[in-house]
Amino acid sequence: MENVVNLMELATKASVGQANVYEIMRLSQSQTPMVLFTPNALKVGLHFHENQYCQCNGKGCLLCQLGRKRTDKYVMPIYLPETMNVALLPITDHKVPGSLLPQLTRYLSPDTLTLVFVSRVDNAHFHVESGLNLEETPQMLSTIQHFNSQVSAGNVDLANVFPQFTNEELAKSQEIALLMRLKGISLP
Ligand SMILES: [Zn+2]
Repeated sequence: MENVVNLMELATKASVGQANVYEIMRLSQSQTPMVLFTPNALKVGLHFHENQYCQCNGKGCLLCQLGRKRTDKYVMPIYLPETMNVALLPITDHKVPGSLLPQLTRYLSPDTLTLVFVSRVDNAHFHVESGLNLEETPQMLSTIQHFNSQVSAGNVDLANVFPQFTNEELAKSQEIALLMRLKGISLP
């Protein structure tokens, strides 16, 4: 059982010092109202590993060396009127009709808050429509302002919405250890 790793513990360890209070936004087939407040998003390299996305470790990344597919996603902050907080929406860089990025960019503006309703049709297709009545509450404006100042101060790393595992932590996984043996790759 020595290969069993508690990924929740690893995730906590990996994010020490930069705890994110902002949650990942998972779209469902029901429409979610969200307020777009910035055209800025962070591009993050990811691997699918043990049923979740984790961050690519960049140069020397073990998962890259093992030939695991790397996917780039944009992490865009949005405000959710339902939870009254900012959440982080991961968006693939697909630009085909029905994908999320081209539909959302239509509504993005540097200085205006825009209300949209977003739902997931299937894994690759989304529905985005304009909301009519954005209620700009003082709470919403101060939450967005606080978020922006936290990002500017470097207190929030949007990439941390995905766990990051060191190569050594990844190598403890049985599946990864097998691939390393088969490929003749060992950690320095
Ligand atoms: Zn990688």
